[in-house]
Amino acid sequence: MNAVNFKLSGIAVPVSPADMLEEICEHFIEHAEVERKDGLAVLRSKLGTAQIKIENARLRIELDCPTRETLHMSRTVLAEHLFYFAENQPFELTWSEPTSLSALPNLHEVTVVSAYDVTPHMRRVIFSCADVMPFVDGDMHVRLLVPPKGRPPVWPGFRDDGRIAWPEGKNELLVRVYTIRALDRDRRELWIDFLQHPAPGMSTPGADFARDVRPGDVAALLGPGAGGLPEARTILLIGDESALPAIARIAAEAPAETRMRAIIEVEDGAEEQPLQSKGALSVQWLHRASYPNAAADMLVREAKAAIEAANDETFVWVACEKSDVRTIKTSLKARNHDRRMMYVAWYWERDMNTA
Ligand SMILES: Cc1cc2nc3c(=O)[nH]c(=O)nc-3n(C[C@H](O)[C@H](O)[C@H](O)COP(=O)(O)OP(=O)(O)OC[C@H]3O[C@@H](n4cnc5c(N)ncnc54)[C@H](O)[C@@H]3O)c2cc1C
Repeated sequence: MNAVNFKLSGIAVPVSPADMLEEICEHFIEHAEVERKDGLAVLRSKLGTAQIKIENARLRIELDCPTRETLHMSRTVLAEHLFYFAENQPFELTWSEPTSLSALPNLHEVTVVSAYDVTPHMRRVIFSCADVMPFVDGDMHVRLLVPPKGRPPVWPGFRDDGRIAWPEGKNELLVRVYTIRALDRDRRELWIDFLQHPAPGMSTPGADFARDVRPGDVAALLGPGAGGLPEARTILLIGDESALPAIARIAAEAPAETRMRAIIEVEDGAEEQPLQSKGALSVQWLHRASYPNAAADMLVREAKAAIEAANDETFVWVACEKSDVRTIKTSLKARNHDRRMMYVAWYWERDMNTA
């Protein structure tokens, strides 16, 4: 590793430093290399190194990162997670220095180039972006930020504790998480595929944005972050339409020697998409519209069977609805699958009032 020289210290005061350290290790093991020794955890990732140590009933944090930008991104990632882990319990976080940046280093303003339907329920929006390099070979996921209609955008900044300061009131942004489906370096363009999911009686602002956008509309992407391309010779991909853009990107970027099996649930045959790959890819499409009523959990059942049949060297990648993800995760735990060989995330939550 090159010499790193951008450093920052922090002090976190949770109700239980030991429980919080445990939670940090448990969570970040899927995103970083995590080394744990008694009251010390060391997290290493592309952003740099974070040492977190229990000291005087507090957590002392030492960040050591390759650039000023990654230092501030590490600080923000950690701050957002620590406050999330603290839930509603008292929690304080202070840093040795305030931020020296005026804007979030991973915020990219983008302009809509075009939008079209890829299938009846999947709408692609192509954005132009001044610098697409952060999106190359990297993590796939972004937060899409859309300013209120008719108002000039006000983008977020930093809070003193390192978290993101979101604009409020009239400047409040629509924020939804999406996947960079593909990028074109030469044209400096990024593609995002938005599922047009029906939600009777409810608004679907993310899906509606894609339906209504016009060339020239401005938005921003915060990221990329989390959800890197899995590195393994054998990959099992499991997901529904919300994960289809990610599965398509993983398949498209996998090297030739990769063997992949994908199980993808879509509404019907019209929602299937051809998936390109240099590797060997077999796709099993599941059509929700043709399930008998009693088989509503077809994706879960197929996923469990595939996970049981997978070997220990298989990277298992799963993304779909929250409760389905939880059930599938139980199968992975039951077979003691190596946490570093899996990505399991819920991409949306079924609304129990409308289900
Ligand atoms: C890491 C990550 C990457 C993602 N990538 C993509 C992507 O590339 N493309 C994509 O389309 N989605 C993606 N998603 C899912 C997307 O963020 C959610 O579907 C989001 O809720 C859509 O926002 P919305 O405003 O349209 O609906 P919301 O306002 O969030 O929800 C409105 C209603 O729609 C229901 N709903 C939400 N999503 C779905 C769905 N997928 N299917 C059926 N009902 C739904 C909700 O239960 C609710 O009742 C991703 C999510 C994550 C966490």
